[in-house]
Amino acid sequence: MNIILLGPPGAGKGTQASFLVEDRGMIQLSTGDMLREAKSSGTEMGQRVAEVMARGELVTDEIVIGLIEEKLNSAAGNGFIFDGFPRTLAQADALGALLEKTGQTLDHVIELQVDDEILVDRIVGRAEAAAAAGQPVRADDNAESLKFRLMEYYKKTSPLIGYYYAKGDLKAVDGLGEIDTVRADIAKILG
Ligand code: AMP
Repeated sequence: MNIILLGPPGAGKGTQASFLVEDRGMIQLSTGDMLREAKSSGTEMGQRVAEVMARGELVTDEIVIGLIEEKLNSAAGNGFIFDGFPRTLAQADALGALLEKTGQTLDHVIELQVDDEILVDRIVGRAEAAAAAGQPVRADDNAESLKFRLMEYYKKTSPLIGYYYAKGDLKAVDGLGEIDTVRADIAKILG
């Protein structure tokens, strides 16, 4: 089973993806994590990507589609969780084509619905908690980048809600509930 977790920054995609890894042995494919890895590799591409990410803008479709393509050719285990991918219609089309090419299906697209006000609090809170624990704070977890990240989401990613709804794949979950309630709601959908 392959699924997409869709939702704005701070909606809880990463947290819920890690539960699915734990509960079902699925493989989390987070393009954000892959890009942060590329950034710490110190290559020129990594450096360019880091600057775009720090501003809260999306990196090019070509780069992220390439990253996903590489992973799709590796073992699928109990299925993939696409976390933070696709983020544009071009990426969604590319994912559909890649899955078809490798004989795989897309089984569910789960939209985590959260209020904008809450997102800002969550992300600023995430940065403060990391700083207090002496952990690295994400370069894009600040109010300025967040504004761009939200704008990118509404301009480029939110159209995917209609796209997957029309395809009949979309299931919405209230992302405002307790973490474990959201986890249970997702489990119910996946069966
Ligand atoms: P995330 O960890 O999913 O919040 O992603 C952090 C940042 O990485 C985003 O703000 C973008 O700059 C970049 N990024 C992650 N995934 C994608 C994607 N699918 N398309 C374009 N940019 C992405």
